[in-house]
Amino acid sequence: MSKFSIKIPFNKPWFGDLEMRNISGAASFGHLSGNGVYTQKSQAFFEEKYGFKKTFLTTSCTDAIEMAVILMGIEKGDEVIMPSYTFVSVTNPFLIQGANIVFADSMPSHPNIDLDKVESLITEKTKVLMVMHYGGVACDMEKAVHIAQKYNLILIEDVAHAIDATYKDKALGSFGQFSVFSFHETKNIHCGEGGLLAINDESYIKRAEIVWEKGTNRTAFSRGEVNKYEWVDLGASFLPSELIAAVLYAQLKQMDEIQSKRVALWNQYYKRIKPLHDKGLLELIELPEYASHNGHLFYLIMKNEQDRNQLLEYLNNNAIQAVFHYLPLHSSPFYKDKHDGRQLAHTDSFASNLIRLPLFYELSVEVVDMICDTVLRYFDKPAN
Ligand SMILES: *Cc1c(COP(=O)(O)O)cnc(C)c1O
Repeated sequence: MSKFSIKIPFNKPWFGDLEMRNISGAASFGHLSGNGVYTQKSQAFFEEKYGFKKTFLTTSCTDAIEMAVILMGIEKGDEVIMPSYTFVSVTNPFLIQGANIVFADSMPSHPNIDLDKVESLITEKTKVLMVMHYGGVACDMEKAVHIAQKYNLILIEDVAHAIDATYKDKALGSFGQFSVFSFHETKNIHCGEGGLLAINDESYIKRAEIVWEKGTNRTAFSRGEVNKYEWVDLGASFLPSELIAAVLYAQLKQMDEIQSKRVALWNQYYKRIKPLHDKGLLELIELPEYASHNGHLFYLIMKNEQDRNQLLEYLNNNAIQAVFHYLPLHSSPFYKDKHDGRQLAHTDSFASNLIRLPLFYELSVEVVDMICDTVLRYFDKPAN
């Protein structure tokens, strides 16, 4: 039986007074559809702070990818290389256009894509290399950019975990022609559901405005550049409402506070769990020298799936909601028959051995200490 009456959740999305005030603000402006004041302020925030050439707020990260897929002109038979150890929805926009996904393995020491293995997967049909910065820790972007340039591939960065994190002091999201962000409630900065497409290659920007606005030239119309707005290209309804953008902008204003709290909690976890790592009882996150991180998630790697599940159960019995993820995409029910049969051993091993501990803005130092005590106690017990 649990001795705690309240369970510590895995995540609790932050929603404060500023978020509420901005929603009222948006309502009072009388413009609730997309591309109003808060959308433009949020986009400007990303362009100014990180130097992205142009950004578009979208209803999700998945949608931002869908927009990029239209802009890249992905066609049937094109090949897209991406990690198998990632969130499931990022594959769909490519598959809808008839592309094939070629899944790459993770690095032995980190869930990020193993860029040393990518070149052997490239064929004449390869069009895109998509990398994902797992847990806010950068992939080796010099390597990724080098491969993309050498083989003339379009590079996309999935920055869903990695807002405000860097590779050699340069913002993640500024290396690829495209990069995509998520503001789902499980991410560091959120608005319930939301996303952003950042475009760093200017040649795509003009068309992106049209694709974003349902295939119309409405953005140019609202700037007074054309005297009527018409259907001029393909597109979809990618814009979130101003109510959503108002919440996002409130969070962006609080970003430094949110990030520094998360990083402090992350450091606290690391310090307290490190002795278990030093005794060889588990593996911890490896931070390469080139990467900063943003306290997106804290994980432990157990020796095998059975150990992992036992620790999960122990934490749950002690009122701590810990979780695992991701199920490998190459062996998913939808893709296993389409995968080329390569073993992706590191992906499989992270999927079965990794466990994530609660980490969110409102979590207190005391509660993190209590969670660490519980983890340490688990390892103290002889033969669980
Ligand atoms: C959350 C997440 C996504 C999807 O984001 P949505 O906004 O829910 O579409 C994509 N990639 C990664 C790595 C994620 O964690």
